[in-house]
Amino acid sequence: MADGCDHLAAIGNIKRPQRRECAECVKVQAQWVHLRTCQSCGVTLCCDSSPNKHASKHARAVSHPVIASAEPGERWLYCFVDDAAVEY
Ligand SMILES: [Zn+2]
Ligand SMILES: [Zn+2]
Ligand SMILES: [Zn+2]
Repeated sequence: MADGCDHLAAIGNIKRPQRRECAECVKVQAQWVHLRTCQSCGVTLCCDSSPNKHASKHARAVSHPVIASAEPGERWLYCFVDDAAVEY
């Protein structure tokens, strides 16, 4: 696991996306680029390459530090607090 990040070290079972869509973008009919799943509450939101950056906004707003990529074939976690990533 990544050095110095207790958030990533604390992740056990990785939450996978329930649906392949951004839960916030669908409400406002916005577009997204890639999807990320919050490892604290399981919500799937859009990445920082997307116009609305819902995943990082969510992470800051409710202090949920770790996301997993929700893209098919990608297996990594990222911690916003420590700017740390790890593959699994
Ligand atoms: Zn961390
Ligand atoms: Zn979004
Ligand atoms: Zn969350």
